[in-house]
Amino acid sequence: MKKSNPWFVFFWITLLIIVFMFINFTRQGGNEVELEYSQFKQHIKAGSVFKVLVAPGLIKGQFRDNAGVFKRFKTVPMDDPNLVKDMEDNKVLEFSATEKSGWLGSLLLNWGPVVLLILFCFWMMRGMSMGNKQAMSFGKTKAKLAVGASKKITFKDVAGCDEAKEELQEIIEFLKDPARFQKLGGKIPKGVLLFGSPGTGKTLLAKAVAGEANVPFFSSSGSEFVEMFVGVGASRVRDLFDHGRKSAPCLLFIDEIDAVGRHRFAGIGGGHDEREQTLNQLLVEMDGFDSKEGVILIAATNRPDVLDPALLRPGRFDRQVIIPSPDLKDREEILGVHSKKIKLDSDVILNVIARRTPGFVGADLANLVNEAALLAARNDQKTVNMKNMEEAIDRILTGPQRKSRLMSDKEKKIIAYHEAGHTLVAKFLPSADPVHKVSIIPRGPALGYTLQLPEEDKYLTSRSELLDKLSILFGGRVAEELVFSEITTGAQNDISKATEIAMRMVTEFGMSDKIGPMALQRPNEEVFLGRDISRDARHSGKTSELIDEEVKNIIYSSKSRASKIIKDNMSVLNKIVSYLLERENLSGEDIDKIIKGEELVPLSESSSVDTETKKKSAVEKKVINERVIVS
Ligand code: ADP
Ligand code: ZN
Repeated sequence: MKKSNPWFVFFWITLLIIVFMFINFTRQGGNEVELEYSQFKQHIKAGSVFKVLVAPGLIKGQFRDNAGVFKRFKTVPMDDPNLVKDMEDNKVLEFSATEKSGWLGSLLLNWGPVVLLILFCFWMMRGMSMGNKQAMSFGKTKAKLAVGASKKITFKDVAGCDEAKEELQEIIEFLKDPARFQKLGGKIPKGVLLFGSPGTGKTLLAKAVAGEANVPFFSSSGSEFVEMFVGVGASRVRDLFDHGRKSAPCLLFIDEIDAVGRHRFAGIGGGHDEREQTLNQLLVEMDGFDSKEGVILIAATNRPDVLDPALLRPGRFDRQVIIPSPDLKDREEILGVHSKKIKLDSDVILNVIARRTPGFVGADLANLVNEAALLAARNDQKTVNMKNMEEAIDRILTGPQRKSRLMSDKEKKIIAYHEAGHTLVAKFLPSADPVHKVSIIPRGPALGYTLQLPEEDKYLTSRSELLDKLSILFGGRVAEELVFSEITTGAQNDISKATEIAMRMVTEFGMSDKIGPMALQRPNEEVFLGRDISRDARHSGKTSELIDEEVKNIIYSSKSRASKIIKDNMSVLNKIVSYLLERENLSGEDIDKIIKGEELVPLSESSSVDTETKKKSAVEKKVINERVIVS
């Protein structure tokens, strides 16, 4: 902005006026009294007035009041031809007249507000004309080109996220040489959606993809597309894509895509017109461009649940990559990346800091290192020591910039028992898919998760498999209940999933003996406006009751099965939990070992094994895409 910022001018003028008023006030003295004309005359007659200045509309002077104290006075004059004579008679020492009347004060009083008003109007007009200039460029994207050969970000700058990096590798290859892919005719995703909590490094990862491929990176944010005026957002989207086409091959990044990408029909009244238009434009653009042109769109969100399903269809954001919050090992690596930029004291052990910060995401850790360096600088230290680091942790925990919260030991324990409960039940049921991984590291909205991978692709699910699934879902809640004699909100998602499954078993799959193979309408179908509204009930109230009863039976019997398994294997549960608390993640093999009663390889020795299993898991993930995640 220019120097002559209207705010700036306005501020100075106001300040000047206030200063004048203040001077005027003090000049008049704080002890000035206002006398009535009659009082003034009495004082003259009593001989206590010794100085008088007569101005049009005002008489001022000095007198001694009844208590004998010197005071200034002022009064409003009246038509009094005898005044001069009275003053002479009563020995007023000094009297004079002037044309000016307290000019400054009255000027300010009379004209000050007018001046202020004029200034205000002037400022408003300036603001409006600037706004107009802005309006001219409303439809232009604000996307910023973020390249600079000096600060190229690559995968080296992103610690952890190995699986995500692997999934993005293909995109990098493509961006490096779109022509080669064109010849081969391979299909490249147009859009990649990164899911993850704030601060887990989604933007960083997208930048690194551009850096690795050495193409321009245009970043924008979903909120930029949501404007007051209908059509502006849509035209910005168009402009962003035009930009992209002109500089292809390149990478377009949209942060917080949920701001535009919300489910269109959600909410009463149909929702937001402008946003809907913008979203439609985005869909049109995505359909309209061919990824062969060499433009890839990466979007990030931490609310995948609110996205419009149309965005996720093939040909749009058909590749979805989850960016989990960092586990112990990742946290250590992230600390490593950021502490390269500072000088560390030899007493700093990054592993210890990583252990102290469960629940911290990448941004928190970057912030931690930065704070510690600032603290060290403040103390004139040459290096950053462990004490600075510890203090920085406390600062970040109490500070306002936290992107996530530190999990307390109590919470960690509850989550560990919850996840171990899921895992244990899954291990002891015949039809359950093998447990691949269990973790107490948050993944999206879930605080922890148990990942099961089926051994082969499945197209049919049997009744006993569904029942096992239900028991596994209840494993978490049951473990909490048995260990802490208290239940938490952590099982909400499990419960809603379980209820959904049980309901469908009864009403859609015909898996209830009492009801038989009939397709029935579910009693509490959520009715969104404009959708499903015309669906009519196909069964009687009595059947409704029966449905409820059957659903309840299924749920209760699955829950008690979970409860029995956990009660019978309490010692295994405790063992899994203690390992989980120590390492935050356990693999399927680890779990098998624990169940067999073997000890696990201590952490420090297992790091080489760890990377190997990580590689393996990434490969497995590509082969099997039907995953079961219980959180
Ligand atoms: P998001 O887009 O997910 O909210 P950002 O990419 O903006 O998160 O991350 C903010 C900062 O946190 C990054 O600039 C980086 O300094 C740090 N950071 C986050 N994740 C990582 C990581 N995996 N490795 C290194 N630094 C990270
Ligand atoms: Zn759960």
